[in-house]
Amino acid sequence: MSMRRDRSLGVASIVAEALRFQSPESIIFAAMELDYDVVIIGGAFSGAATALMLKRKHPAARVLIIEKAGEFDRKVGESTTELSSCYMTRLLGLTNYLGHHHLAKQGLRMWFANRPDQPFDDCVELGAKYQARLPTFQVDRSTLDQHMLELAVDAGCELQRPAKVTALELESDRAYVTYETHRVSTRWLVDASGRGAMLARKLGHFQPNTEHPINAVWARFTGVKDWDSYEWREKFRDYANACRTSRNWATNHLMGHGWWCWIIPLRGGDVSAGIVYDSRIFKLAEGANLGERLRAHLLSHPVGAEIFGNAQIIEGDVHAYSAMPYSSLKVCDTSWLTVGDAAGFIDPLYSPGLDFCSYTSCFVADLLARSLAGEDVSRSLAYYNEQYPVTYRLWFETLYKDKYYYMGDAELMAAALLLDVGMYFIGLVIPVYKDPEREFLHLPFEGTAGRVVGAMMKFYNRRLVVLAKRRLAKGCYGRRNAGWRELYDGFVPDGRVRKLIRKGLFHWWRAELTNLRLILTPGVKQGAASGSTATSTAVAAPL
Ligand SMILES: Cc1cc2nc3c(=O)[nH]c(=O)nc-3n(C[C@H](O)[C@H](O)[C@H](O)COP(=O)(O)OP(=O)(O)OC[C@H]3O[C@@H](n4cnc5c(N)ncnc54)[C@H](O)[C@@H]3O)c2cc1C
Repeated sequence: MSMRRDRSLGVASIVAEALRFQSPESIIFAAMELDYDVVIIGGAFSGAATALMLKRKHPAARVLIIEKAGEFDRKVGESTTELSSCYMTRLLGLTNYLGHHHLAKQGLRMWFANRPDQPFDDCVELGAKYQARLPTFQVDRSTLDQHMLELAVDAGCELQRPAKVTALELESDRAYVTYETHRVSTRWLVDASGRGAMLARKLGHFQPNTEHPINAVWARFTGVKDWDSYEWREKFRDYANACRTSRNWATNHLMGHGWWCWIIPLRGGDVSAGIVYDSRIFKLAEGANLGERLRAHLLSHPVGAEIFGNAQIIEGDVHAYSAMPYSSLKVCDTSWLTVGDAAGFIDPLYSPGLDFCSYTSCFVADLLARSLAGEDVSRSLAYYNEQYPVTYRLWFETLYKDKYYYMGDAELMAAALLLDVGMYFIGLVIPVYKDPEREFLHLPFEGTAGRVVGAMMKFYNRRLVVLAKRRLAKGCYGRRNAGWRELYDGFVPDGRVRKLIRKGLFHWWRAELTNLRLILTPGVKQGAASGSTATSTAVAAPL
């Protein structure tokens, strides 16, 4: 690392050295060298990916990355999807690295219960029966981001680290960036500062997504039980035989009314776990401190109780975010662009964070390479500003808006999971596997086809919300959160995915029939349909 640091001391140090000589030539040299083609704020996933892709497309580009952290720490963004994994393996070329240093993920599984004392093997399970067909990973972001940044430096980017960008000045074809005691100029400025969203905030483009009031608390644990252990096979033989792949390497989600918890294994044995909840529906129960509140909540779910019974939180590794979703009204102009979380964030339920980082870093790197090669990129800039809000909005409305009302009901969520992931495969995964170089340059939900698909997905999502509210009003929300498993073949990037979509439609239409019965039969009303607030109860809903 120190060698790398030395090599990446960069132009600013050369300039400082030159200025000490005080000769006019060296001062002219210094002034010339202080200029870059591209300066990137933030050297984590999005910043490093943008830099690396740019250098591969345009090796002559003079790129400076400014990263404030001396070392990356573990952060959320640990579970990758088929899309972000396609970007990392096919375009960034990280297959070998990911295989050696991170875990191969075995899909997404969801667990539902309807009473705290429910036996573990009576809880409803949704997930794949077999190994995942496409590569996906459980990553430790402290090492992944470090590796990507080193690749960018090896490709010829300069790195200033630790160095915090403190001031920006923007002109139509130039930007000036101040970090520590230095000021540099650049043709293009890229904001990859994550939730800091430096440019969006500075320019007044930052827009909180108040329709989706979600919050998160998370920590890393030791001593978490192995889902595939001998002990469990002895204890829960049917559970062990039902599934052919390992559940331990999956991203496991505990589901409830207004909340879900992730359980992600990390290489070396630690486990990342956290809760995300919608504050319109759910409040995390009070406790001694945040970590204890999270632990108590995990233990209140029958599956969590089994898994986290002897688990301990790693000291100092408890974190929280409130008001998580936001977006930027404008994502580029003639001298700057934003990528990854600096442009927006929605919800981590299906791990779309790194998908957004993949699309935006790929698109921006391509745009920059073409601009530096002398091409007029004004149409690409206009496309990015027009399409990003459409992508953000439709991604939000199709997959996340009001989902927390129905995510605790296994039947409704089975419909959503199969339809959501099926549509994701048809619309995005299949195309990126066919032609990643081309498809990552097109943001999702593009054109008329994108809007039609978006409208269809919004429709079934809205219907599931209506059905959930009726179930809540009639006191039968989560009634079938016991005694069954939906273990499907797994999603494949070809026509076979239609079978899973049909399964999802079947769950949805059956729930519509149940809804008709509920309309026609007078039920016992319990709690308010939409406004009921559960307090750290792990069961699905008031029953
Ligand atoms: C609770 C939660 C769970 C999540 N789970 C997942 C998941 O499972 N899978 C997934 O794909 N995504 C997930 N995400 C989203 C994911 O974490 C982000 O999308 C991803 O980390 C964004 O990467 P980034 O490089 O854009 O930003 P970041 O990773 O935030 O990096 C920004 C970098 O910029 C640097 N920086 C900031 N300000 C400055 C400055 N002024 N000067 C210099 N440097 C600066 C920071 O030090 C940092 O290194 C989750 C998010 C949340 C909130």
